Amino acid sequence: MLYELIELADQLQRKKKMPPLCYEKKLINWIIDLSGATPYLKGPFEKGEYRMIEAPIRQRSGQLSENNVKPYLLVDDARYVLGVPENNEPKKIREAQLAHQEYVRLIEEAYDHTNMAELKRVLDFLQSSLKEQFFSSIRPRDIVTFQVNEESLICEHPKIQQFWVQHLEQELASNDKNNCAICRNYAPYVRIFPSVISLFGQRCILTSFKEKAFKSMGKDQTNNAPICFQCATLTVDVFNYLLREDKHHAELYRDKKRETICKLKWLYIGSMIP
Ligand SMILES: [Zn+2]
Repeated sequence: MLYELIELADQLQRKKKMPPLCYEKKLINWIIDLSGATPYLKGPFEKGEYRMIEAPIRQRSGQLSENNVKPYLLVDDARYVLGVPENNEPKKIREAQLAHQEYVRLIEEAYDHTNMAELKRVLDFLQSSLKEQFFSSIRPRDIVTFQVNEESLICEHPKIQQFWVQHLEQELASNDKNNCAICRNYAPYVRIFPSVISLFGQRCILTSFKEKAFKSMGKDQTNNAPICFQCATLTVDVFNYLLREDKHHAELYRDKKRETICKLKWLYIGSMIP
């Protein structure tokens, strides 16, 4: 079944029905336009007022802390993008500082790898006091991104897409190699999945060997069922795509008593796609 998902991913990506690897469709609230001499704020966009963009994504959960800061490259909420705290409590101010610091560091890393002039513009802006003029307009959880020309967003540039995959692979894949359980290629396998499956509003994981009871022959994490980075990412992305798109699943059950919709879904995969 997982191999069917990989084959389907290939078809969907060729038809441009699915975002690039480690990307997702996202609504944004603000664009900071750096095309002119003065930064210009566009927004706020309500749902439907601006197109869904393709934005870098990764698994992110738990309390934001020094050991748990995972910014999304170029498209994130204002705590990360500008360092806007949720309130004036010292804890929240510290969280926003941490988030923003790591967000800038990630863009610096992207700039070192790509040498894109667009990223230099963003870094110059973020390292200046100019950003403070937007603090009163943008709420901490608003999604913000950048552009340096009218036609395109920096996050959608092919060089950025390529860097994001390399960055995540380096962080999440093992130093060790093994035969991928899906494609059989001998490659570094993922220690941590880049993204999670979202089913019935719950975050599900594909494999987990964190608990001692699930370990076998002393093997940790995903070494029990090694999956290469490409397969790990594509299977989760396609699974989420099928769950999202109405024409790719049928609703088998709905709990009418509960306000939250609880659905059982039957997925159409591979040759079964309508
Ligand atoms: Zn593989």
